[in-house]
Amino acid sequence: MIVVLASASGFPPVRALARRAGLRCVPDSADAPHRLALVGALSPVDRDELAAALEARPDVAEVIRDPGSAPLASRHFRPDPSVVAVGPLSIGGGAPILAAGPCAVESREQLMAVAEAAARAGAGLLRGGAFKPRTSPYAFQGLGPEGLRLLAEARQQTGLPVATEVLAAEQVDLVAEVADLLQIGARNMQNYALLAAVGAAGKPVLLKRGLGATLDEWLMAAEYLLATGATGVVLCERGLRHFDPQTRNILDLAGALAVKSLTHLPVIADPSHATGRRDLVAPMALAALAAGLDGVIVEVHPDPDRALSDGAQSIDLAALAGLAQRAAAMGVSFATPSVRRPSAEVEGWGR
Ligand code: PEP
Ligand code: MN
Repeated sequence: MIVVLASASGFPPVRALARRAGLRCVPDSADAPHRLALVGALSPVDRDELAAALEARPDVAEVIRDPGSAPLASRHFRPDPSVVAVGPLSIGGGAPILAAGPCAVESREQLMAVAEAAARAGAGLLRGGAFKPRTSPYAFQGLGPEGLRLLAEARQQTGLPVATEVLAAEQVDLVAEVADLLQIGARNMQNYALLAAVGAAGKPVLLKRGLGATLDEWLMAAEYLLATGATGVVLCERGLRHFDPQTRNILDLAGALAVKSLTHLPVIADPSHATGRRDLVAPMALAALAAGLDGVIVEVHPDPDRALSDGAQSIDLAALAGLAQRAAAMGVSFATPSVRRPSAEVEGWGR
């Protein structure tokens, strides 16, 4: 349940009541709590009794008894959009973001070429997989730790924060050393042990929607992250399984907008995985921006036909610049990192 306080002085006694009932009490703000989420398992009868006791208190303005299955992620807890800080970049609540990068980090040359092009195009975030979840065991699985090292170099070179996927709980510490935004892939959206381990890293998380996940399941996955310590969650609609082999998945823009009305979390779209076709990436990215999502994430490769992973849906460097121009012509101005690294640091790169 969510408790709306009449005055901040209600926080300690409400928290004490919640704890006595075996619930955690999470305030919306450490300095000036106004809304409290009381989370945990409780029988329906005990829940009703606690709600009634809270409603009778003068320091409680309202008790929202049923905020849904993902209270921390819900608008009942935070009516306004939340802003997720990803290093020097803010996602949500303002200008949309452009995130760009290769599906997989393949080499220094490949990554640096894409990272520089992304920065030139006005992207705010560099994406790139070091550990890849591949359907075939024979497909390129990523460079692993070397890929992470290259991502750190690319961040140093461009000033762009980095999003990269973590596949397993035992990788979290290693990946979190480099990632500004830890990515949970679609296939792992309901891997609850991984969600809890990633949440415990205390970082922001990019949560891809599962291949056939409902909005509620997606929000409950976000709830796991928020409940276990993630500093913010960015939801990413990346296309759902469907029946037509002409496109890899179907971009559920309506679902992405619908989930935005339920949650304060930012929602971005991934037209690369959603379509599987590089000719459809820019138009669907522009559609997502026109619809008012908080950004787009696209796969980019200097030579897509030679890509080791997802080349068919990767746009080249010129197409990335073209996408940015078309977005600008639509009146979109992308959010960029608030600080660029000093050039002295950049000069040290690679030595
Ligand atoms: C990716 O972003 O490269 C990726 C594997 O995405 P998804 O989990 O959405 O398939
Ligand atoms: Mn990919």
